[in-house]
Amino acid sequence: MPFHSKTKKPSQRVFSATRPSGPLHLGNYLGALKGYLQLQEKSDLDCIYAVVDLHGITSPYQHQNYPQQVQEIALEYLACGLNPKKAHLVIQSRIPEHVELAYLLSTLYPVSRLEQLPTYKDKKKEQPHYINMGLLYYPILMAADILLYKAQLVPVGVDQLPHLEVAREIARAFNRRFGKTFPEPQPYLVSTFSIPSLDGKGKMSKSYPNSYISLLDDAATIQKKIAKVATDKGSGKTIPTKGGVAVLLQLIEILEGKDKRRTYESMYLKDGISYNNLKAELTQVIVKFLQPIQSERNYYQQHPEIIKNILKEGEEYARPIAQKTLAEVKEKMGLSYNF
Ligand code: ADP
Repeated sequence: MPFHSKTKKPSQRVFSATRPSGPLHLGNYLGALKGYLQLQEKSDLDCIYAVVDLHGITSPYQHQNYPQQVQEIALEYLACGLNPKKAHLVIQSRIPEHVELAYLLSTLYPVSRLEQLPTYKDKKKEQPHYINMGLLYYPILMAADILLYKAQLVPVGVDQLPHLEVAREIARAFNRRFGKTFPEPQPYLVSTFSIPSLDGKGKMSKSYPNSYISLLDDAATIQKKIAKVATDKGSGKTIPTKGGVAVLLQLIEILEGKDKRRTYESMYLKDGISYNNLKAELTQVIVKFLQPIQSERNYYQQHPEIIKNILKEGEEYARPIAQKTLAEVKEKMGLSYNF
């Protein structure tokens, strides 16, 4: 562990991850990554954060570009403030124990429950020609990602709560059958709602090109995207809870605070909102927010050797933990032989 600064032995482990299916967006940052960053600051927490490349290939992808996409998430994690002195960064497929544990845990979980998960149903609609086994298996691999490190705390966006519940059920099922082994991982939420899609339908997601603001978008792109958000005449008797206006107010709230939102709400209920002003303000706030992230990201992009070292450290740190858990699981499941 060459550059780690946490001196106390941490009492709890934290794990979380992102798929490398495209650059991170504001939803990823405000819904999840912010939580990664808060938890890494706590000296009693041992944080392992991953780029889950094996999850990424369950959706259509270009294999030629995939290594760059994986590296991009690492760059962006660091640019956002993930501190290699306070957290460990790993690439999922570099630690094959994730897959082996997933297989073992899959034998404890009914297929019918996986088929009922809302995310699986959504994906089936979204990619009808790509309904592969990995997609169904996704929550099992995610459970293995978390349980492999016996993580107690998982910073995630609210959309991931059903998947985390699968991990908790699997932990319970394993403990009941083979003896206490895994803690039941708890979610750590930084937002009680998903950051909405810019088109007002569902959440901001990499899978829907018109839904998100990427952390890499420049000022002109952000301005164009915000300008496109649908609005109304600017006043009314009740504050909209759906559609474009609701999206703008939620973004104002999360980036500028509740008071700012209330100011716009009272304009809406009285003399009316000027959406030109609101959109200009929101654009400016987002541009300002992303500027330091983008310049850090460019720094890391020019220094690939730093990324390489950080990932090497992460792998060397995580692998022995993974091997130890897997050996314990195999032993408890009757798969450890002396002959
Ligand atoms: P995406 O859905 O864009 O592909 P991932 O599935 O890789 O994103 O999610 C990475 C993390 O970001 C997860 O913890 C997820 O809950 C969180 N996240 C993704 N989209 C949003 C959103 N719109 N609002 C809040 N959190 C989100």
